[in-house]
Amino acid sequence: MDHYDIIVIGGGPAGSTLAWSLEKSGKRVLIIDKQDFPRDKTCAGWVTPAVMDTLEIDQDNYARGRTLQPISAFRIGMMGQAPVDNDHGETVSYGIRRCEFDAYLLDRVNANKQLNTPVKSIEQKGRNWVINDTFEAPLLIGAGGHFCPVAKKLGHGPGSHETVVAAKEIEFEMTAAQASVCQARGDTPELWFCRDLKGYAWVFRKGNFLNIGLGREDSHKLTDHLNDFVDDMKAQGRIPADLPGRFKGHAYLLYAHAERPLVDEGIMLIGDAAGLAYTQSGEGIRPAIESALIAADVIRRVPDVSARNLQRYGEAISERFGTRALNDQSSWQIPDWVKLPLASGLMRSQWFTRKVVTEKWFLHQQVPPLESAL
Ligand SMILES: Cc1cc2nc3c(=O)[nH]c(=O)nc-3n(C[C@H](O)[C@H](O)[C@H](O)COP(=O)(O)OP(=O)(O)OC[C@H]3O[C@@H](n4cnc5c(N)ncnc54)[C@H](O)[C@@H]3O)c2cc1C
Repeated sequence: MDHYDIIVIGGGPAGSTLAWSLEKSGKRVLIIDKQDFPRDKTCAGWVTPAVMDTLEIDQDNYARGRTLQPISAFRIGMMGQAPVDNDHGETVSYGIRRCEFDAYLLDRVNANKQLNTPVKSIEQKGRNWVINDTFEAPLLIGAGGHFCPVAKKLGHGPGSHETVVAAKEIEFEMTAAQASVCQARGDTPELWFCRDLKGYAWVFRKGNFLNIGLGREDSHKLTDHLNDFVDDMKAQGRIPADLPGRFKGHAYLLYAHAERPLVDEGIMLIGDAAGLAYTQSGEGIRPAIESALIAADVIRRVPDVSARNLQRYGEAISERFGTRALNDQSSWQIPDWVKLPLASGLMRSQWFTRKVVTEKWFLHQQVPPLESAL
């Protein structure tokens, strides 16, 4: 049996950030992931500046051999009507490719890594959690994303009654011919809201890579909504007519809809495993890394890993992200008062799309980066 202080299930942004933060703590940490890295993750790959700051990413270093697309404008609209272009005059966000970003974050961590290793069993033996009959530790971190086996162990996973966002996305490198006809601009991601306001689609060009997707709270007819959107974008010449491959699907929970407990005896859930994506935008990378840093801080402070002590993490998450019951009022699909005939007018307003949709809902500019000196 290989003994550790902490076993982290999942080497995505949440898991790697937790291990990175505990690097100087003297704790023996093992990260287990079912995939080898670099691996793909269904995601638009848009990160806010708070993520780059909090993770202390040297952007010049990162951009060497990797895609780092600065964003300085947004094109926002409602499907079927003319969009609004808002130029922010400076870099307000970034585009990355998840296969590169996640591998970069995991590579820089010195913790032990057991990749290409699906978690098949989680057993409790005395005070330890035993994984696959091989690895044991008193503290288990569930960082395995939406389908995390640790969340499942706590009774929450696929099949539980939480409302999930269903999304489909494609990312590919354009040929020279495709790039020359594609009217989408790298510095200007496009957000297109569904007319029933139950979701939105995006067209996001990152250098020569193009990412197109659509996410909805209501998964009914997701493919029909996506096909209509893609046909419309092709007809307008915004994306190439010959998209390669198929759109990949994934699901995730928004903070206001999640009902997962965050801790149990010797267990903490972070990132998507805990259901922390921002309710209005679906941005999940920032909450994933912030929850990891908050969890690491609690781990450094508690005398033991009893649920009672770990509950400090649950309290800190509520302080940072709000209590779930209260948050439910501001559902991501846009507050109720906007769900009026007024909505299509607001989506034509320069002020509303810039100040509310972009700066508040999508960039979360009103929330300063988490203090890194936790
Ligand atoms: C279509 C789509 C678009 C999105 N776009 C954005 C965006 O532009 N910006 C943004 O901020 N967020 C976006 N999100 C959300 C974002 O992708 C997630 O919030 C983020 O990946 C959460 O990180 P994580 O580390 O918690 O989980 P993940 O990144 O999902 O990592 C979990 C890891 O756990 C591993 N794992 C899972 N099960 C097991 C197992 N049984 N055994 C071992 N390992 C396991 C997986 O292999 C994976 O590496 C998007 C999501 C979707 C679906």
